[in-house]
Amino acid sequence: MAEPEVLDPGVWRVPYETPTLPPATATNTLIVGTRRLAVVEPATPYATERAALDALLTERAAAGAEIVAVLVTHHHGDHIGYAFELAQRWRAPIYAHSLTAARVDFPVDVTLADGDRLELDDGYVLRALFTPGHAPGHLVYCEERTGIAYAGDLVAGIGTILIDPADGGDMSAYLDSLARLGTARPTALVPSHGPVIAAPQECLERYITHRRQREGRVLAALNAGATRMPELLAGAYSDTPREIWWLAERSLDAHLRKLEGEGRVRREPDGQFVLT
Ligand SMILES: [Zn+2]
Repeated sequence: MAEPEVLDPGVWRVPYETPTLPPATATNTLIVGTRRLAVVEPATPYATERAALDALLTERAAAGAEIVAVLVTHHHGDHIGYAFELAQRWRAPIYAHSLTAARVDFPVDVTLADGDRLELDDGYVLRALFTPGHAPGHLVYCEERTGIAYAGDLVAGIGTILIDPADGGDMSAYLDSLARLGTARPTALVPSHGPVIAAPQECLERYITHRRQREGRVLAALNAGATRMPELLAGAYSDTPREIWWLAERSLDAHLRKLEGEGRVRREPDGQFVLT
């Protein structure tokens, strides 16, 4: 059973197993506050994992704490698996962005917009940072006392972040959101998947560079005469294992839509792509 990693007396990270995208196998739950606790991303649908989180919260409650909020970053199944039942159990309201509320099958009690703050105790405050791109209603939660940010699926400590236009993904918004999180000057990032990221700026810059390089490869493939998805995939993702080209194709679609939006690429009626 996963043990909590105490990042600060008021910021605990615990990974619980979830049905997520390999190589990740778990989603981090963050418990913030000392007496008034917020539970960020209780995501596990598995009974034994839920019982472990319940036991941890029961221990905190026995020591005088109360659970005052359940926070969700975005609508994906590996992020919401225990939100509703946990909130019911502790009679705590669920917080999320309105675009997330519109995509989940449980009621969201409080909708959060960019900059909204949730005060806990001892100076622990969670501030919502609107960071769409991976998902339309994606929020990062910045803890103001420590500077630690729960980054959701904006970055990952293990595996990669999928930008899938078929599921509301938007590459242009995603790149803006990465830069935006950088300007919030977090001291550490807790991604939804994988270990804590201790050097946030380096990580965010690496993510932005990686996407820019990929865009460069897409443009190079177009320049070399590729016009259809299979040729563009072969050209721009030749460094990616063929087994995950089905995922790469979604990412390629996201890059092409960004380039179309910028007027640099045109999609012909017959589905071919050309540089403008
Ligand atoms: Zn996600």
